[in-house]
Amino acid sequence: MIARKGVSVLGSTGSIGRSTLDVIARHPDRFKVTALTARSQWKLLLEQAIDHRPELVVLVEPANAPELQQGLRAAGLSTELMTGAEALETAATLASADCVMAAIVGAAGLASTLAAAHAGRRVLLANKEALVMSGPLLLDAVRASGAELLPIDSEHNAIFQCLPPIRPGVAAPGVRRLWLTASGGPFLRLPASEFPQVTPESAVAHPRWRMGQKISVDSATLMNKGLELIEAQLLFGMSPGTVEVVVHPESIVHSLVEYTDGSTLAQLGNPDMRTPIAHALGWPDRLESGVQSLDMLALGSLRFEAPDRDKFRCLVLAEAAGRVGGTAPAILNAANEVAVEAFLERRLNFDGIPMVIDHVLSQIATEAVTGLADVLAADGAARRAAAALIAG
Ligand code: NDP
Ligand code: MG
Repeated sequence: MIARKGVSVLGSTGSIGRSTLDVIARHPDRFKVTALTARSQWKLLLEQAIDHRPELVVLVEPANAPELQQGLRAAGLSTELMTGAEALETAATLASADCVMAAIVGAAGLASTLAAAHAGRRVLLANKEALVMSGPLLLDAVRASGAELLPIDSEHNAIFQCLPPIRPGVAAPGVRRLWLTASGGPFLRLPASEFPQVTPESAVAHPRWRMGQKISVDSATLMNKGLELIEAQLLFGMSPGTVEVVVHPESIVHSLVEYTDGSTLAQLGNPDMRTPIAHALGWPDRLESGVQSLDMLALGSLRFEAPDRDKFRCLVLAEAAGRVGGTAPAILNAANEVAVEAFLERRLNFDGIPMVIDHVLSQIATEAVTGLADVLAADGAARRAAAALIAG
């Protein structure tokens, strides 16, 4: 019998967190949940704790901690409850946690993702913003501690599956190019002239994937693909210009690796995040994920087209930040987070998102990244500049 692996799920109440617990629940012989974390959704966190009996739960916002504590005791659980953002790092580094699912959205997940990497755990990386912001720092931490870094983002997980065994951040031999597929989001066919009228409701209604609000808006602007382009450069040691974006509206081919001999390998599957989650949890073994078989005969045709860079300016801004490097990706990411939040709160039009990011990138000088302080300073400056611009 194999010893059960402990898994801490950071952001367990989110879309990725819930899919992770769904996969884990299918394999009680292999996995046990060590910690669960949420920002404010305490009722769902309590339900998850009752189902999975973790050692620790973290509720970042303390307002409902008393109710949560009472619920845990009423259920007869001895689970410890911690509050506050620092407790996320405790969850990421529990002695019993072999794997850490980094599924908090945005910069809020940076410290805990870095902590898991420093502690030498298997890091399942959904929180792409953490890597985009900290870049080489996260990869250095992984290499120094002997941690494993397995991508959850479906495109990067697909590429990982099509590559020979690699070290994080080091290019595999014989690779010419990576092709990142993009669904194109809900506004693939909407004329740019209608972008100012786009509502948050229509932006989060993604045609292929059910995801959290922030990444859904990022998919609608194509910033998600821009962040993923930077993520791919970093994870797979690729130089700018060797990662291509191709729109593939069916979201069946999750990405491709082109080799120097002319071979191109792809990973296909139904658009369901439980596939990459199960892959990374089980790797190198293959696990049942609950995802339906791909019905090849029902697929019909698969389409591929170039992204419209005149319409989706966020992609162009991200490509530029990826070329510049240093703190530019952190500035891009922070300005985007502030702009997306303002859009969701109806303080900024949809077409204002790239305008804000562009302005912030031109306002704040890019520096080299020598340590976390550089990243945090760039992130803070970009947030202030974006907020000031939106407040007008
Ligand atoms: P969700 O918005 O659905 O979930 C976010 C999770 O993070 C929730 O558990 C939330 O808690 C928690 N959280 C939010 N803010 C904070 C904070 N300030 N401090 C601590 N915890 C916080 O997001 P997704 O699951 O969609 O995405 C998570 C990450 O995975 C993102 O980085 C995204 O880009 C990436 N990803 C997602 C994919 C998807 O299919 N959803 C696909 C590929 C990547 P609460 O519920 O209490 O608010
Ligand atoms: Mg993705």
